[in-house]
Amino acid sequence: MSVIGIDFGNESCYVAAARSGGIETLANDYSLRATPSVVAFDGKKRIIGVAAKNQQVTNMKNTVSGFKRLLGRKFNDPHVQHELTSIPARVEARGDGSIGFKVNYLEEDQHFSPEQLTAMLFTKLKETSAAAMQTQVNDCVIACPIFFTNAERRALLDAAQIAGLNVLRLLNETTATALAYGFYKNDLFEEKPKNVIFIDFGHSALQVSACSFTKGKLKMLASTWDQIGGRDFDLAVAEFFAKEFQERYKINAKTNARANLRLLTEIEKLKKQMSANSTKLPLNIECFLEDIDVSSSMQRSQMEELCAPVLQRVEQTFKRLLAESKLQLDDIHSVEIVGGSSRIPSVKQLIEQVFNKPASTTLNQDEAVSRGAALQCAIMSPAVRVREFGVTDIQNYAVKVLWDSEGSAGPGEIEIFPQFHASPFSRLLTINRKGPFNVSIVYGQQVPYPDQTIGVWKVKDVKPNERGEGQEVKLKVRINNNGIVLISSATLVEKKEAEEAAAAEQAASEEKSSEQAGGASNSGESADGQQEGSDKKKKAGKATELPLEVSTHGFSPVDLSNYTQQEAKMIGSDQKETERIDARNALEEFVYDMRNKLQGGSLERFVLESEREAIVSQLNDLENWLYEDGENCERETYANRLEALHKKTDPIKQRANDYDQCPAVFEELKGSI
Ligand code: ATP
Ligand code: MG
Repeated sequence: MSVIGIDFGNESCYVAAARSGGIETLANDYSLRATPSVVAFDGKKRIIGVAAKNQQVTNMKNTVSGFKRLLGRKFNDPHVQHELTSIPARVEARGDGSIGFKVNYLEEDQHFSPEQLTAMLFTKLKETSAAAMQTQVNDCVIACPIFFTNAERRALLDAAQIAGLNVLRLLNETTATALAYGFYKNDLFEEKPKNVIFIDFGHSALQVSACSFTKGKLKMLASTWDQIGGRDFDLAVAEFFAKEFQERYKINAKTNARANLRLLTEIEKLKKQMSANSTKLPLNIECFLEDIDVSSSMQRSQMEELCAPVLQRVEQTFKRLLAESKLQLDDIHSVEIVGGSSRIPSVKQLIEQVFNKPASTTLNQDEAVSRGAALQCAIMSPAVRVREFGVTDIQNYAVKVLWDSEGSAGPGEIEIFPQFHASPFSRLLTINRKGPFNVSIVYGQQVPYPDQTIGVWKVKDVKPNERGEGQEVKLKVRINNNGIVLISSATLVEKKEAEEAAAAEQAASEEKSSEQAGGASNSGESADGQQEGSDKKKKAGKATELPLEVSTHGFSPVDLSNYTQQEAKMIGSDQKETERIDARNALEEFVYDMRNKLQGGSLERFVLESEREAIVSQLNDLENWLYEDGENCERETYANRLEALHKKTDPIKQRANDYDQCPAVFEELKGSI
């Protein structure tokens, strides 16, 4: 069984595997470590990753990219509408308001959601891992942007489930990076914390986190982020060139999706060159629009000017981290950078300016996130043995719990987790109730999602005590391993009269030290691995588990099951198509190979001329057939023809073999014929 970590980037994905020898980033079917986050479709199959990106310009309508940032969202979400302005695929609202990418697949128009497309990409990554590791993949840890909200995290988990991945944890991307750093630097850590800043500047996002390391563990302190990335540099530069081409060549690149895509592709290449070179660099695109070849040039300083607003936001995000983490410059040991866009020189300059330290590249900038995720998976999975390393992550947003009113007792609310609270973590909340009630968990601050609600839980079967009074309901509010906040259990504590007095006394002393709101007390807290509540309290009454009914984001079990089946069917159909093409290629290869061997090649002398001519003529006919009527046949048709050819030619090969074994006998036989 293998254990993997996945970095699902907006532009490209990386998979790393943990083996007993260490962590290894896996190469895909093109021997590349980066798998583009691109999925394409044609009449017969899905095309995913490198192959999909390679054919994007010629199959734009059926090629989809940029779906990471659409996970868990509705079509009319303003964020989605904004993202769609830079996605050159056909996207529509589905009946339930969800997002549907419209593509032509298996000769019909079909819609796929961002979650399904992500699942397709995961299927590809799973295949890559299985091929590289020569074993099935089960457990994985998937890295996830720190700013992902409940809906997005659930969507990511749904996608993984559709692809049949068992996710041990969704790990925040900068936390994965911190683990990839800290795990191998453990010898340098002491009791006194060492604070390191991690900056991940990718394609669509900038994430900055402060982390403190002590011996054997890391603790995330604070994070800031902005929805800016490498693509914003490309867009700013594209705007400039589009204007220039309009003036010089009278062509409008923006009116043509294909031209726009080609321009952005060339600009991305130019941008990367500019990172290494400050002189003027050329940009040439042949037959750009209306058969016109365009050419221009740019130098780094010019790009920096065009991208000044983006760089300003980068700087603000860095400064915000200093404020949020409350770290002094002297408290910072180093600033580690990862993510493709962290290679931009002006970004490195800003790091030095704000943090007063040079940007450090201890980690592999492209692979660190996946490697950290693989390490976390290895630590959590029994399949691989690695040394322990504690990871305490953070909850990126403040979280509140609200409950409805009962009789004269009004509704209440409490901030259960402040921003940057440790995660995973559980807290007990005690509410006095006579009957069933609703509890909502909401974000306690502005989040990058249109709906602040995380979920609503109906607490059922609550009843008053024998005297008709309310009873204690203990809610366990939990940030789980995936950074998802939920009510993991509700318990009714029925007190017997004699115990009640003692319990009340105890509760009073507890409440003094814990927050309290609207008749609720927030007591008993634990990070994972510690015991919850106190034993004394448990003895104070009979505890009954209460049923909970939850409404939150994510697919329903029925939808999830349907999508999983659909994915399995598509995997089957892709497999069939691959086998069909393999069979066709095998036949084609045989035709060429055999003809060469029979005509002047190694088999010529082992067959009578008349027979050889007949076979060669049959091979010629087959070749023509393969390019005409036989171009799109079933696998069996190719396999049957190959078998028939084998029947005819195997005896010739056999004779050649026999000769190789014992040429003398052969010559003797030939002489006697
Ligand atoms: P995200 O983390 O936003 O989901 P991602 O993980 O796919 O996206 P990365 O692979 O970290 O993103 O980075 C890709 C971005 O980095 C692209 O915009 C690319 O143009 C940019 N990039 C890569 N190399 C360089 C370079 N040498 N100079 C400038 N930019 C670069
Ligand atoms: Mg990334």
